[in-house]
Amino acid sequence: MHDSNEAQPGMIPDIAVAIVRELGAIVGPAGIVTEKDRLAPHLEEPRGLYHSKASLMVMPATTDEAAAVIRLCHHHRIGVVPQGGNTGLVGGATIQSSADAPQILLSASRLTKVRELDARNYTVTAEAGCILADLQRLAQDAGRLFPLSLAAEGSCQLGGNLSTNAGGTNVLRFGNARDLVLGLEVVLPDGRVLDALRGLRKNNTGYDLKHLFIGSEGTLGFITAATLKLFPQPRGVATALVAVNDPEAAVALYDQARSSLGDELVAFELLSRRALELALASQDESRDPLGEPYAWYVLMELASARDHQATESVIESFMHECLEAGVVHNGVVAQSETQREHLWQLRHRVSEAQGKLGASIKHDISVPVSKIAAFIQQADARVREMIPGCRVVAFGHLGDGNIHFNISQPEQLSAEAFLDQWTVINREVHAIAVDLGGSFSAEHGIGILKLDELKHFGQGVELELMKTVKAALDPAGIMNPGKLPGG
Ligand SMILES: Cc1cc2nc3c(=O)[nH]c(=O)nc-3n(C[C@H](O)[C@H](O)[C@H](O)COP(=O)(O)OP(=O)(O)OC[C@H]3O[C@@H](n4cnc5c(N)ncnc54)[C@H](O)[C@@H]3O)c2cc1C
Repeated sequence: MHDSNEAQPGMIPDIAVAIVRELGAIVGPAGIVTEKDRLAPHLEEPRGLYHSKASLMVMPATTDEAAAVIRLCHHHRIGVVPQGGNTGLVGGATIQSSADAPQILLSASRLTKVRELDARNYTVTAEAGCILADLQRLAQDAGRLFPLSLAAEGSCQLGGNLSTNAGGTNVLRFGNARDLVLGLEVVLPDGRVLDALRGLRKNNTGYDLKHLFIGSEGTLGFITAATLKLFPQPRGVATALVAVNDPEAAVALYDQARSSLGDELVAFELLSRRALELALASQDESRDPLGEPYAWYVLMELASARDHQATESVIESFMHECLEAGVVHNGVVAQSETQREHLWQLRHRVSEAQGKLGASIKHDISVPVSKIAAFIQQADARVREMIPGCRVVAFGHLGDGNIHFNISQPEQLSAEAFLDQWTVINREVHAIAVDLGGSFSAEHGIGILKLDELKHFGQGVELELMKTVKAALDPAGIMNPGKLPGG
C-alpha cells in the first residue's frame, strides 16, 4: 500500500493507507485481508486465465457494512470488484490488469445468514455469501427443494449465482437463477441500499428492478441477500444413462421425453464418447456404465411426487419403448443413490478431466434445441479444418440448447501454438452459433473473457441500452470496472 494514490507506470495504483484504515474501521480486522497468502486464492480465476493485482480484499459481515464500504469507495473513486466463491469462468471476479484506478476485491464470504425460511410460502431469504450446496441442504431439511444445481455448488455462492444468472443441470424444469428469485437486496454504486426483499409471486408495481442486477456480473451493484423460490421436495428421483447414435438422435429423444414425461423430466444432458471416456479415466471406478462403447450418450433425470419405485418404473418403461423403437441402443437406470451420484459424477467431471488432453479452447454456446445437431456438425467440421488433429469434447445441457463445445490440442502441436488460435477459433465457433440463432455465452457470462465477443456480436441498440443503464446507476463507474460495455 502507498501513502498516495499515484499510479506507478504499468501498475494498478494501490489504495492509500489512510483509506485502508477507514475501511478497517467499518468492517473490523476480520473484514480486511492484505496478507499475500490469504489473498492468493482470490486473485486467480479457476482456469488460471486471469490474475488480479489486488492488494486488498474487504469482507463486510452485514449489509450496512457493505453499504458503508461502497459509499467510501464511491467517495474516493475506488473500483469495487465483487467476489463470491470465485468459481466464475470468464474472469468477472478478477481485477483487469489494465485498470488505471485503484480497485479492491469486495467479498461476500461473511454474508452467510439465512434470514428466514418460510416453508408455507415456499421461500427462503438468504445472504449473498451462502454456499449453494448449503442452501440446497437447508431447503431439503425443511422438506423443500432449491433446484439450482451445478458442479461448482460446493464453493460458489448465492451472490455469484445471481450475478451470473447461473444455469446448471435443472434449468429445463426450473429455469435459470433469475427464475428462482422473488426479491433482492442490493447495495448500489453510491452506497444506497435497494431493499426489494419480497417473497411475492405477484407484484406488478412498476419496473421489476431486481432483474437489472441478476446477470449483470457485479457491474451495477453488490447483491447482499435474496428471497428465493422453493419447490416441493420430490419423493422419487430416477436417473438413466442411455446410448444414442448422434446429436440428432439425442434431440429426437429429448422431444419424445418431453412429450411422454412432461415436467417430471428435470435434466437432459448430452455427452460424446470422448467426454465420457475422459470422465471415466478420472474416476476410481472406471467401469464403462454400459459395458461397451457408444458414440453419444444422454443422462436424463426424472423427479416426481410419486415414490421412488414408481418414478423408476416410469423411466424404465420410457427407456424400453425407446429401445424397441431403435432411438436408444442401450441404457442403464441407477439402482441406488450411489449409482445415481456415480452417473452424475461422470457428467460433472468432464470439464476438469479434459485437462488430461493438454491445452483446451472452450466454448459455452446456446442455440435453439432444434439446431443443436446442426451446430455440433458445423462447428466440428470447421475446427477440424482449422486445426487438423484437434480433439473435440462436446457435452452439455441439451435440454437448454446449451453445449460446451471444447477443443483439446492435437497431440502433435504444442500447447502454445494451439492456444495462439484461441481468439480465431472462438470467433468462428461463436459465429456458427449466432448464425443458427444462438448465443456465444449461454451461462458463464461476459466477464473479461468475452468482452470483445459482446462488442462484436452485440446488437447496436442492446449495447447502447446497456451503457445507458450503467451510466444511470453507476455514473462514477466504480462497480466492477472494465466489465460489460460501459463498465
Ligand atoms: C466446475 C465448474 C462448473 C460450473 N458449472 C456451471 C454451470 O453448470 N452453470 C453455470 O451457470 N455456471 C457454471 N460454472 C460457473 C460458476 O460456477 C457460476 O457462474 C457461479 O454461479 C459463480 O458463482 P461464484 O460465487 O463463484 O461467483 P464469482 O466467480 O466469485 O463471481 C462471478 C461474477 O459475479 C460477480 N459477483 C459475485 N458475487 C457478487 C455479489 N454478491 N454481488 C454482485 N456481484 C457479484 C463477480 O464480480 C463476477 O463478475 C461452473 C464453474 C466451475 C468451476
